[in-house]
Amino acid sequence: MANQIKSEMLKGDLYMNGQWVSEPGQTYFESINPATGELVGICAAATIGQVDEAVAYAHKAYPMWRDLPVPERASYLLKAAQLFDIRKEELARVMTMEMGKVLAESLGEVGVVIATAQYMAGEGRRLFGETVPAGFPGRNVRMVREPLGVAACITPWNFPVSLASYKIFSALIAGNTVVWKPASEVALSAKIFVEILAEAGLPDGVVNLITGSGRTVGRRLAEHPDVKIISFTGSTEVGQQLAEMSCKTLKRISLELGGKNAVIVLKDADLDKAADGIVKSAFTTTGQRCTAASRVIVEKQVKEELLAKIVQLTKAMKIGNGLEEGNQIGPLVNEAQLHTVENYVKKAVDQGGNIVLGGKRAEELGGFYYEPTIIENVRPNDVIAQEEIFGPVLAIIEADSYEEAMEINNGTIYGLSTAIYTESLHYANRAAREAVSGLVYINNGTSNAEMGVAFGGMKMSGNGHREVSHHAFDVMTEWKSIYTNY
Ligand code: NAP
Repeated sequence: MANQIKSEMLKGDLYMNGQWVSEPGQTYFESINPATGELVGICAAATIGQVDEAVAYAHKAYPMWRDLPVPERASYLLKAAQLFDIRKEELARVMTMEMGKVLAESLGEVGVVIATAQYMAGEGRRLFGETVPAGFPGRNVRMVREPLGVAACITPWNFPVSLASYKIFSALIAGNTVVWKPASEVALSAKIFVEILAEAGLPDGVVNLITGSGRTVGRRLAEHPDVKIISFTGSTEVGQQLAEMSCKTLKRISLELGGKNAVIVLKDADLDKAADGIVKSAFTTTGQRCTAASRVIVEKQVKEELLAKIVQLTKAMKIGNGLEEGNQIGPLVNEAQLHTVENYVKKAVDQGGNIVLGGKRAEELGGFYYEPTIIENVRPNDVIAQEEIFGPVLAIIEADSYEEAMEINNGTIYGLSTAIYTESLHYANRAAREAVSGLVYINNGTSNAEMGVAFGGMKMSGNGHREVSHHAFDVMTEWKSIYTNY
């Protein structure tokens, strides 16, 4: 904990009711740059009382915000989109400093925030209801979407601002107010995000930022009776806990969770394209994406050729500080994640895996760097083929046929993203049908999302809700049916 503040470091307070606030004796936690180990800044660790205060402000602001016409709510998002564009370099740099992804990726992520603001502003014009033919004379029946109240948005560190924008902007356009709890690693990026919303003129209390540990802040939000929606992205383990905690107050809860994504490569595939898609999906964001490719399931006949191509492309990737141009793979987010990755690689070797590339820290770089790692001789039920690693580690698994490859693909607890490379219309279409995944990519890597397309996972990767598209309103609104006898 850091309570002595140097003037040059960034400092994040809590944001509630339109004010940046801290209380006497407020505790602060540190944000550390994983590339250098340097302190980026400090952020307020909210107390339970402060969480309650933020919820109370959001609750108070709700009727006013709900009653604003949607185009007026949309105008704040459109203004914010312009401001994000003006401050994109600054926001992207802070993101890279806090969690390590390379600057080009951070800038791309701010681009997603801008697109989401514009998209959701437009969707506001399409919050359509339904009319139903009435069963009695002199009556009409209609159904309308209504907001629920306070939405608590709890987000992870790997996409510090885009995931928040999916949640916050869909909540706001639907007429809910927001309390946002970002991951502690990226609390300063969250601060800039909220500064921009404040600058866009959002009325007081409509968006509130509460930083601090998930165990304190997240838990309180999940239990709070005035929080009506929990929109969570993060690990399956925490998602399960939140579901349990929030069921007592019957909250709407949306869970976007972990994955164990695979790329299936059939023997008729274009192997150059497959290798390119695999390497990009496996190692961008240092493998710390929910949709990262962590398994390649390849037909035996082409395994050696594909592997050689993957190794060649991976060797050409430059690891280093994300702020320096030309680097393509940054550090892992923190030391704990580095240890997690090391342990998984050790387990893979213990179970008979053979390291083809990497398999160790990039110690010469300092920071929390791990070399992009490729492991062959992995069997479908090995630990490394079953559990989410969240690092730059790719397991190569061989299969005798499409059918076996699909069985392996579906043989984990997760169901987020599946890719298949094949020239066969037959197998491409079967994969689209047979993969138990919320996302299926044909001749593309596992990691890609387009605005307006439902995003989310099956099985333990989520609880059936979807983001990014208008389907987000299935979480952010509820139906009211109105009968009028005239
Ligand atoms: P995490 O540990 O589950 O944390 C996510 C958020 O929950 C953070 O804000 C965290 O706060 C908070 N939290 C932690 N413990 C909590 C608790 N007991 N009660 C309430 N809140 C709690 O996940 P992460 O390490 O940040 O992110 C990586 C995970 O996110 C991976 O599993 C990845 O697959 C998943 N993810 C999924 C998607 C998707 O769309 N499906 C997208 C991106 C990431 P603090 O960390 O500040 O304590």
